[in-house]
Amino acid sequence: MSITVLPQHVADQIAAGEVVERPASVIKELIENSLDAGATQIDVHIENGGKTLIEVRDNGKGMEPEDAQKCILRHATSKIGTIDDLFSIRSFGFRGEALAAISAVSRCSIITKTNNAHTGTKVSLEGGQNLQAEDTAANTGTIITIRDLFYTTPARLEYLKADPTEYRHIVNEILYFALSNPQVGFSLTKNETRTQDLPATDTLKNRIHQILPKMAGLFVEVNGHSSDTRVNGYVGQAGTGHPNKNHQYIFVNGRHINDYRLTHAVREAYNQSCGLEHHLHPMFVIEINTDPLLVDVNVHPRKLEIKFSDPADIYQLVKRSVIDALQKSGTHTDRDQDNTGTHFPHRPPSNTFSFGSSTPSKKMIHTGNSFSQSLFQGQKKSFQDLSVQRDSYLTVPQEETEKNPLTTLTRLTALAQIKNKYILAEADNGLFLFDQHALHERERFEKLWNDYKSKDIQVQALLTPQTVDLSEEDIELLNAHKTDLQSLGFALEFPSDSAVKIQELPLLLKDEDIEKIVIELIKYFKSHTISETVLDQLMRKLLEYKSCRGAIMYGDKISMPEAQKLLDDFLSTKWSTLCPHGRPNHVYWSFTDLDRKFHR
Ligand code: ADP
Ligand code: MG
Repeated sequence: MSITVLPQHVADQIAAGEVVERPASVIKELIENSLDAGATQIDVHIENGGKTLIEVRDNGKGMEPEDAQKCILRHATSKIGTIDDLFSIRSFGFRGEALAAISAVSRCSIITKTNNAHTGTKVSLEGGQNLQAEDTAANTGTIITIRDLFYTTPARLEYLKADPTEYRHIVNEILYFALSNPQVGFSLTKNETRTQDLPATDTLKNRIHQILPKMAGLFVEVNGHSSDTRVNGYVGQAGTGHPNKNHQYIFVNGRHINDYRLTHAVREAYNQSCGLEHHLHPMFVIEINTDPLLVDVNVHPRKLEIKFSDPADIYQLVKRSVIDALQKSGTHTDRDQDNTGTHFPHRPPSNTFSFGSSTPSKKMIHTGNSFSQSLFQGQKKSFQDLSVQRDSYLTVPQEETEKNPLTTLTRLTALAQIKNKYILAEADNGLFLFDQHALHERERFEKLWNDYKSKDIQVQALLTPQTVDLSEEDIELLNAHKTDLQSLGFALEFPSDSAVKIQELPLLLKDEDIEKIVIELIKYFKSHTISETVLDQLMRKLLEYKSCRGAIMYGDKISMPEAQKLLDDFLSTKWSTLCPHGRPNHVYWSFTDLDRKFHR
């Protein structure tokens, strides 16, 4: 076969594969164009999961007749002129290939009109060919209709999933844009039914409420910055988490991105402050705004990933900002002053927001636990709210001052130990029931952690060094982290390919079972590939382990003075309402609630 240069429309069809993967990617490109055109209302209409019809209608600035014909050409763009523009890009589009690619693999029509034109233009083409243009009546803005996506490339059509799956991708795509552009109204109509209606609003907080009305009350504001970057948005307050990762959104300069490192940074923020149970995922909408020069958006064909010039800085900034937000979310006690000098003022959390009375903030749901705060609210409505809330929160701390007196509590009197598991205590405003283990565990952990942070690492030499037999793979892992371990206070030797000899270890761990510690270390190194503060993270794990082991157990009999001591310590412990893994440690009933319960 001799070499031929492919006809343009064939080349476009091939190139389309990079930009257009599925109906949702068409919608992404079209919405980006609408936003770039300054639209304030964008209405999407689809049929059959977008396979037979996708229509995006906007009220943006529209196109002149010549531009309407040019826009479907490859590398036709009004957004950049020189390669340098690419590095200061503020618009979504810049490659000028989306419309060329989409129209190459579909039947496409564009109706568009600018504000000062008398008539609009309609351009239609099939498989990127036979362009027809005519005048037509139109409102200012643009309507792009894509029918029979991939009809020219049946193989690609085969790859599409069932309509409901494609529809889910479309909804997600629209939610991304809706969250990053609250000032723009969005709607989605599926086979003649309006399934999303998100009117323009002025704040992200309102937009979150439109999208997640049941959960909006659980979010706290994030507000952080470095010299060139701002981090804003909302995260679920301390003690909240979701069984899946559906409520995690990251935007960089207005673009939705998938970035596992930043997701990890948010999770670490929870781990390193209030704790988060293993099976739960944080909920967040994080917006990062930075100098466009510091990010490269041109590393992924569908612009789903970006490259930061300094990823470690952004990671730290996100983590720090989220920790600050969580600290303000009111599950700590007030009198605390932490190592960084952050002070917690004596007031109820002010940056938690709550919309109307049906927010779930008043409820406390403990799964796998027979206590449910809603029982004590006595209203059927609470249960209904919960049952329609399929995405129910596993743990929801109370947030109102009346409901949550912890921020102002000065006295807690132990009344009884129940079943050797719980401590019943009286306060001025109500009754508390504590999980004795979770309570003690957090207190021990915070103390150990403060000791670790405030002192130089002290090392304990072992009189008889201990040898632990392990697999070769595990030995290699330990060997690879030998220096890190050394700076933590471990001195290791490797007498063979399958054994490690521990000669010294951090003083804090001197009474622990060495073999178990080594196993924890290996587990840690296996599961943590992102290691910005590897030492702190590792030490946290070890101290979590130690605080759990030394704590009063579920089932241990304790005396009343011991119980009272625990409660007194509780009042001065940071993050005291959750155990180090993020499990809640108490339920609370105000006397007002109890009186109501008894119709007093
Ligand atoms: P890019 O967005 O990378 O410039 P596209 O192929 O997506 O490339 O669009 C080509 C051009 O068509 C855009 O630069 C813009 O000038 C014009 N265009 C596309 N969609 C719209 C729209 N909805 N409103 C106004 N102009 C549009
Ligand atoms: Mg574009």
